[in-house]
Amino acid sequence: MRSRTWGVSFGKRTIVHIDMDAFFAQVEVLDHPEYRGKPLVVGGRRDSRRGVVSTASYEARKYGIRSAMPIQRAVQLCPHAIFVPPRMARYEEVSRRIFEVLETFSPLVEPLSIDEAFLDMTGTEHFYEDARHMGLELKRRIFEATSLTGSVGIAPNKFIAKLASDREKPDGLVIVPAADVDAFLTPLPVEALWGVGPKTAARLKSIGVHTVRDVRERPLSQLAQVVGPRLAAHVQALAFGRDERPVEPDIEAKSIGRETTFEEDVPDGPELRAVLARLAANVGWRLRKEGVFARTVTVKIRYPDFETHTKSRTLAEPFRDDDTLYREAARLLDEFRLRRPLRLLGVYASGLQHAAQTSLFGKREDRLSDVLDAINAKLGGRVVRRGREL
Ligand SMILES: [Mg+2]
Repeated sequence: MRSRTWGVSFGKRTIVHIDMDAFFAQVEVLDHPEYRGKPLVVGGRRDSRRGVVSTASYEARKYGIRSAMPIQRAVQLCPHAIFVPPRMARYEEVSRRIFEVLETFSPLVEPLSIDEAFLDMTGTEHFYEDARHMGLELKRRIFEATSLTGSVGIAPNKFIAKLASDREKPDGLVIVPAADVDAFLTPLPVEALWGVGPKTAARLKSIGVHTVRDVRERPLSQLAQVVGPRLAAHVQALAFGRDERPVEPDIEAKSIGRETTFEEDVPDGPELRAVLARLAANVGWRLRKEGVFARTVTVKIRYPDFETHTKSRTLAEPFRDDDTLYREAARLLDEFRLRRPLRLLGVYASGLQHAAQTSLFGKREDRLSDVLDAINAKLGGRVVRRGREL
């Protein structure tokens, strides 16, 4: 408990925004080390007629290549760049690992995209010496899990945290405590205010409002004359650093999982399969307790030398019954063709959705699991188990 040395205050809340740096490009370099240090464009092959740039490496950005630019334009700007099509399944796999790390930091994680999220860290401050340590720890753990860098902003609200993470990209860490909000915001152009696009910016500039400071200093009525009363109030609140939007976790990006580390390494066989059944049943039980269904099963293995692998399968139909979880997990475990005993085994369910979003109520295997749950609820735990868990 080191709250005494925390030092700076963010006011009521401590909000973190993390954004991975040139995410798709970083993953490509990770998988193709020969791309490192070279201009790299993810989006399509160089002969792609209609493709657009999805992500450009920082080396490619030096040539003026930007996201959403036609591939053919990027080829003109930098003919010797490497051009590759995106591999979304791979990026999603890496993204899942990033979000797994984020969820160990806070239960309130709101994904904005495949590589970007808000975290509400309010109440966790005492785990860290200060805000810088909190940010560095987040970056370190993500790097440890993925070998990738991201940029972090820490601030009293979402609006400022997002601006802060963008300030020192790549591999940045920018902290804006409550006392620094004014100095951080006021010099910025009006475009920095969330909700101010090119049209609104042009209207504000037509009355001489160019910076956040200008927005603060103008009477609301003057701003309202050019952008309307609602937008004027919104923009001025942001200009003063006021943003009450909560961090809203997206249940679909979360996973429910259970893993176990063995005291002695376990080879594939009846014992390992029984552990797998117990893990699957535990995950199923928690899915039902939370009132959610899952779409994806993931099995994680770790060998004694800490070499770690995961395999996932996404099913067409959402599920939350033990049978489906165990069947798919067992199939994934088969696919590993284990060469050595394991140090760790884990089962995860992700792609979660609320029961109301599915039409699966009353499926037979659900009722079986529900009956077991009801008995176990009476007995106060997972007491009654299926034979395969024993
Ligand atoms: Mg990013």
